[in-house]
Amino acid sequence: MSRKIDTKLVHDGEFRPRILGAVSMPIFQSAMFEYMGETDYHDLKYIRLNNTPNHEVLHGKLASLEGAEAALVTSSGMGAITTSLLAVASAGEHVLFQDCLYGGTHDLVTQDFDALGLGYDFIDADRPESWQHKLRPTTRAIYVETLTNPLIQVGDLKAVAGFAREHGLVSIIDNTFASPVNFRPREHGFDLSLHSCTKYLNGHSDIVAGAVIGPEQLVTRIRHKLNHTGASLDPHACFLLHRGMKTLALRVRQQNRTALELARLLDGSPAVTVVNYPGLESHRHHSRARELFDGFGGMLSFELAGGIDAAQRFIDALSLPVAAPSLGGVETLITLPALTSHAGLDPDERRAIGVGDALLRVSVGIEATDDLLEDFARALDAL
Ligand code: PLP
Repeated sequence: MSRKIDTKLVHDGEFRPRILGAVSMPIFQSAMFEYMGETDYHDLKYIRLNNTPNHEVLHGKLASLEGAEAALVTSSGMGAITTSLLAVASAGEHVLFQDCLYGGTHDLVTQDFDALGLGYDFIDADRPESWQHKLRPTTRAIYVETLTNPLIQVGDLKAVAGFAREHGLVSIIDNTFASPVNFRPREHGFDLSLHSCTKYLNGHSDIVAGAVIGPEQLVTRIRHKLNHTGASLDPHACFLLHRGMKTLALRVRQQNRTALELARLLDGSPAVTVVNYPGLESHRHHSRARELFDGFGGMLSFELAGGIDAAQRFIDALSLPVAAPSLGGVETLITLPALTSHAGLDPDERRAIGVGDALLRVSVGIEATDDLLEDFARALDAL
């Protein structure tokens, strides 16, 4: 019988026998290790070559969580994204990207691809019929995100994996927002799953890290590219990520539960004009999310009547959430995308893509659900 993800988080990938009997994985803070007969450069034991015991334990665990053959950790989520893209597409080749990407990925594509000789086109992940005409003979990959930021939409993910298979493309998905607890891309035909482990996988807002999960051959190609680019994770950060991951399932289930209750509370308030959460039956992708995911996640956004001033007053009136960027940690965070992640966009363009002036994005933490509900209800009343 296959083990449940909670058990895999604790036990899979661990060294057997345990290293000198240590119950917790020790930190191997050694830049290099003595030769043990390695003949290939990529096998030399050296931190930048991503193969210390602290890397290996994470690789085994991450692969197991998503039912994949192999995994690789990187120095950041962007390290995982950049290195994977450089490994699957070369100068003169082309990649299809979902049109509402995480800002860092969007900037990489729109600001750096030209200079690298890489071509790209954006696609609407909800309209498979519109993808075919964007294909070129040089297209190598199609890239999407499990849940989009900040509107928390779910593209037609099954169609993306099917389209990639049909046209011989590598299908890549940034699975950061869902985490392996809520969605495992390999089960739905994706080749590569990428994570910013800075978020849910580590979950404690104290490191920056990334991961690539997929088939052995492809992950090896990406590992060799990573050995060149040098975006390797330090053993101490590996240790923290490994420690954080063990409680991933507990944290994410609590976050799923609270986010759904919070979304319902907000949905019932006259001060709120829109709530974006795929767990609500009114969300346009609710049935798709229900079919694909084991939980609807800890991210939601909503818009207040009363514009940007009301949004700012609302943030000030909350006592628990921290007004800070990023997501996926144990503490609830709140941001105003119009003034933060989407501040660079022309206001009309921003509103046209659904990011209104008073849209607030929440990353739900693991505080007691009732305490968060009470805090939000009080801040709504104070508006
Ligand atoms: N992917 C998503 C969905 C993100 O939200 C982020 C960061 O916010 C990244 C990737 C980049 O991750 P990192 O900051 O670890 O480089």
